[in-house]
Amino acid sequence: MRLNINDSEHLDSPNESDIQRSVEHLGREEFLVLSSEAGYFVQTYHNSDGSFALEHRLGSSEQHYLVDSSLITVDDVQRAFRLFLRQSADLLSLLDWQPLSLVEDVQRVDEAPQIPVDALVEYHGVLMAADWPQEIEDAQEIRNYLMHGQRLSRVPLSAHVGAGEPAGLCQECGVQRAQFHVPGCRHEQCPRCQGTLVECSCQIDVD
Ligand SMILES: [Zn+2]
Ligand SMILES: [Zn+2]
Repeated sequence: MRLNINDSEHLDSPNESDIQRSVEHLGREEFLVLSSEAGYFVQTYHNSDGSFALEHRLGSSEQHYLVDSSLITVDDVQRAFRLFLRQSADLLSLLDWQPLSLVEDVQRVDEAPQIPVDALVEYHGVLMAADWPQEIEDAQEIRNYLMHGQRLSRVPLSAHVGAGEPAGLCQECGVQRAQFHVPGCRHEQCPRCQGTLVECSCQIDVD
């Protein structure tokens, strides 16, 4: 069992009075983490408004729980840390724990920007969604892919592809000749096998 006090002090095998004292003396904007092994911990953050954030993780992000700060007091934090120290299952019933994944999903829905579906702009002489030109600009910054350990230059929209189209644009993502496709475009050629990037079996490594 290990107690991390705001990354400034670490106690191995803390006892109950260490825990009690550390919670009592926890300054605002400081945190405490009590962990038993990697991924298993209870942690608190003393918010600037004086309330406490409290989280409990049991090995994975699917089993990461938190409580509403407005519903708990410093005594609840003390109790939660003591129960974790004893590895008591009562910790789970002590408070109204909410899965972190659920809380994040709710926030994601609430915070999703409202994009008007009819917002169109003219770019390269064609109409497209208002946020798409930025996607095209961003795509030009990605000049190569790391694939199977090899760094390979991306294949831009070539002169012959789309010949005959008045604007000479990619029919899928709207880039001009010599520009790179917006990643995910089904007309982008794979630099590794020369097949269609979204369909071939090559993998892009995460770099
Ligand atoms: Zn394209
Ligand atoms: Zn490929």
